[in-house]
Amino acid sequence: MIRVLDKHVADKIAAGEVIDRPISIVKELVENSLDADATSITVEIRGGGKEYIRVTDDGCGIDEKYAEIAFSRHATSKIRDEKDLDAIGTLGFRGEALASIAAVARVEMITSTEDETPGRSLRIDGGTIVENKPIGCPRGTTITVRDLFYNVPARLKFLASENGESRRITDMMSRIALAYPDVRFRLINGGRDVFSTAGSGNILDNILRIYGRDLEKDLLPVDFTRDGSIIRGYVSKPSLSTSTRSRQYFCVNGRVVSSKTVEKGLEKGYRERLFTGRHPVAFLFISVPAKTVDVNVHPTKKEIRFNDPFAVEDMVEEGVRKALSAGEAVASLDAKATKDTISQQAKEPAASVGETDQGVQVDVKNLLKTLRSSVEEDGMDYIPEIPREEGVSEEPERLDITSMDIVGVVLDTYIITTLEDTMYLIDQHAAHERVLYESLLTRYESEESPSQTLLTPLQFTVSAETSGAENEWIPALRRMGYDIEPFGDKVYIVRQVPASLGSEEAEAFVRQFVMDLEDKPDIRDHADLERLIMRSCKSAVKGGDRLHQAEIRSLLEQLDSCDNPYSCPHGRPVFVKMTRYELERMFKRA
Ligand code: ADP
Ligand code: MG
Repeated sequence: MIRVLDKHVADKIAAGEVIDRPISIVKELVENSLDADATSITVEIRGGGKEYIRVTDDGCGIDEKYAEIAFSRHATSKIRDEKDLDAIGTLGFRGEALASIAAVARVEMITSTEDETPGRSLRIDGGTIVENKPIGCPRGTTITVRDLFYNVPARLKFLASENGESRRITDMMSRIALAYPDVRFRLINGGRDVFSTAGSGNILDNILRIYGRDLEKDLLPVDFTRDGSIIRGYVSKPSLSTSTRSRQYFCVNGRVVSSKTVEKGLEKGYRERLFTGRHPVAFLFISVPAKTVDVNVHPTKKEIRFNDPFAVEDMVEEGVRKALSAGEAVASLDAKATKDTISQQAKEPAASVGETDQGVQVDVKNLLKTLRSSVEEDGMDYIPEIPREEGVSEEPERLDITSMDIVGVVLDTYIITTLEDTMYLIDQHAAHERVLYESLLTRYESEESPSQTLLTPLQFTVSAETSGAENEWIPALRRMGYDIEPFGDKVYIVRQVPASLGSEEAEAFVRQFVMDLEDKPDIRDHADLERLIMRSCKSAVKGGDRLHQAEIRSLLEQLDSCDNPYSCPHGRPVFVKMTRYELERMFKRA
């Protein structure tokens, strides 16, 4: 038998699609507040949002004529006809959030469109309006949701623990707050302030208010533009990394998104700066021409699609690499960092951020703006502006390695230098490895620096297999500056080596190089070649060598001309630093 369902039953079923847990209520209510142009939004939850959710805004409010209608299904002020629907229909403008919430909880709304005129107070229980009366209140809307799923107990058991639900909400609210730096947000959980932002538009201030002041010393600004596209924000110094990507936050054209493309670019930007398996903390704001992103993503999917993902990946990589080229990126030798500068975990942020599986689409308002402006500005070339943060410059200052004063070497390994008010420790082996690696790669790529002739030519024998593949590796060595030739059966002779290497280094390098070839003589892939060079450099660096002043000076000069002087090719730091202040603190002078 087919029958028409009772309205309340139908509402409850429909509600289940939109409202499956407290986070979806918070998301819908906060989106509504943003749509209402609120400048201040307060979210208060209790019992993980299962017991109590209240969202207060200072937005446009709802006129008393429409207060009840707002709670009926398909009631929306945002769509007038089918044309609008085409533009925004897939992004959650279904006009059913309030109706759905009201169907599965006890809801109260207080709203007013102006400060002076009285507003309305409504109470809706399980979808039925039980009260609607005038009330004096400031402009804006407050919606309180109590006893979620009190009338659909079956759904309650699908909810996570109180803490689990709170964590999801906190994570989402953190992301929303970051995406809207001009709006003041306040999140209260169980009567305790989780965070509040200032609405000042300052991204760094927002990050620190949400994740804690401690983070500041670990962040570097990103500021990069290419062909009008912009990437700004903050990334962590290599001394701060995490084991998951949960502390990466991307905002593209005003929308909080997750993106494999941006993730990849970020990871590549940190190549040789972090060990594999470690992930940077990142807050990246990216603006690209509206036409180059797919805005028609599914409403429950937060993944964004770029028309040219490689261009975006490349831009992120470049932007991040540039940020990391700042001398500021050198890790401080402070108490915590000394223990383990590489695997040190991010400090637990003020808002403890867990990984969530929730699709967070908090972009509607901005997206709508983007859509509108792109139409208004007549063209999908429109790129939303991201203001540059105060005190951030586009050209990060590199570490001036050549101006350092050399103090000495300790333990035959660590060079101590000073520059202005800071002391640096330099791992001579890591530095050396970096210098060898870059000089050989540069040489390989440019084919132009000179070679030097060995007094005694070098001879070595390889396996039949390696010998059979000589057409692959001999040219590679020649491009690096080696004069190498076959010299009988499986025997090769080297008469010249790259001038940038000492003859001992050059010999050690080439011996290791051919030895490693035994495992994998096919080096047509550039990445394989790079890996091979990297490994051979490592073994060309001798341990425990006592360096003379002149050798140190020359090492520092070569290091200075490296693209990335800050880490060895494997991601170990070359430099750590200690400021005068940190020294003074250690000796209890400050
Ligand atoms: P939608 O957001 O898809 O339009 P909702 O059910 O979420 O549907 O809201 C219904 C309508 O109620 C909105 O279109 C808007 O006009 C009004 N509304 C809801 N929340 C607010 C708010 N906080 N401030 C002002 N108006 C609101
Ligand atoms: Mg809505």
